[in-house]
Amino acid sequence: MSDQHDPTLPDHLAPWIAKGQELAAADERERARMRQMRFDTIAVHGLYSAEAALANGGSVIEPAFLSPAQHFPDSDALEAALGYLMPAWGYTRIANPTVGYLEETLALLETYQTGLTASCVVTGSGMAAVDMAVSPFLAVDPSLPPANVVVSARCYGGTFQLFAERYARERGVDVRWVPDPLDTHAWAARIDEGTRVVYGEMPSNPSLSVFDIPAVAKLAHAAGVPLIVDSTVATPALMRPLGMGADIVIHSVSKSIASSGLAIAGALIARHGLTSRFGTDDMRADFAMHVKLLPMRDHGPAISPFNALMALTDLRTLRTKMDAWSRSSLRIAEFLDAHPAVTRVLYPGLPTTPGHDLAQASMWLADGDADGQPANRYGHLLAFTVGDDQAAARRAFDGLTIVRRATDLGRVKSIATIPAISTHQQQGEAGRTIASIPPNLIRLSVGGEHTDDLIEDLNAALARA
Ligand SMILES: *Cc1c(COP(=O)(O)O)cnc(C)c1O
Repeated sequence: MSDQHDPTLPDHLAPWIAKGQELAAADERERARMRQMRFDTIAVHGLYSAEAALANGGSVIEPAFLSPAQHFPDSDALEAALGYLMPAWGYTRIANPTVGYLEETLALLETYQTGLTASCVVTGSGMAAVDMAVSPFLAVDPSLPPANVVVSARCYGGTFQLFAERYARERGVDVRWVPDPLDTHAWAARIDEGTRVVYGEMPSNPSLSVFDIPAVAKLAHAAGVPLIVDSTVATPALMRPLGMGADIVIHSVSKSIASSGLAIAGALIARHGLTSRFGTDDMRADFAMHVKLLPMRDHGPAISPFNALMALTDLRTLRTKMDAWSRSSLRIAEFLDAHPAVTRVLYPGLPTTPGHDLAQASMWLADGDADGQPANRYGHLLAFTVGDDQAAARRAFDGLTIVRRATDLGRVKSIATIPAISTHQQQGEAGRTIASIPPNLIRLSVGGEHTDDLIEDLNAALARA
């Protein structure tokens, strides 16, 4: 995988290394060509060109490579490939062509119209992506001050537990929670010479909190550390944090990207040449590739190629779905806001939601609306409180008939949950207080059903509150 032929390498590998360089150059030309295309075209084709189709028996759709391993023509090719001296996939825990199609497409979409280049590594779940993004920066180094991380407390329950239990309790990492991510001073006050990464979620699950990515990126970079942003709820169709200053973007691909709900998957997309005073030159140059070739290889949270194909299939139509479901969600948020049984609505598109101005500045539908005009879209996740206690919220929740009750989001089917008893149950009362999750909060992920049917369902359910 190195760019140059190391003169100390045995001569017998030279032809394969040269062949590898040709293949890598062809991929780079195709990436450059696709960067000229619009969002939907990239989402539909990624790097699977007409030539790639012909090289795969003419298959129009990207083939599913379910084989665990690749056959090599001879021992030299095997040696060069396994030494990472030429592009090859080798073994599915490390790389796989079908997974590669998804990685290339996501890297192009996350850098769309940013002028940046990035690489992506796809993982078996969103949580694996969070762990793979953060833990390389937490490696023990006695020459440095004790490690700390600065993290928005408004984050997904699994992410909260990863930081609180795995990193803080098990490994002694000082996890510094930012209770309200809108407060940029709170981030600044926690970053110091021991900080290894700064981590935030935007918009957050389930409280739809936002933060000033460019301002927090500046703070992180001034301290020589990367900003990692979980942008699962926005997706690259609505927001691209790398272009706003973030170094690494995380996705639970399981959610809106794979909205049909046929696969669990995660992704980490890192800009080339990221900021980190900690780590090696390799890490900074191409962090996603570093993760793929080394930590991923050793920890093993690889995705099934079949799941990668399921996610890729949904990804092709991401922009149009996010457009339609965002518009439906705004109408539903306005309906809820006007309902007497609803005490509060959190949706980045509502002027009454904290951080609405920032959301308005940050969340735009890629390539604009049907007339090509710039258009804000705020995604299809919202949250609301019912009455004053959980009993009222439970009565309304139990009255839903179209909306499904599940611990899930980002689906073509509308889904609601009560985070305090589901996604955020295990972090306990104290953890929920830091993360601002009231017991009567209902999280609603708006799907592709007709908006009027959803409003009728919510209206009937709320009548029971
Ligand atoms: C669901 C979710 C995750 C974890 O993703 P999995 O694919 O379930 O492992 C991480 N971040 C956010 C914002 C999520 O909603």
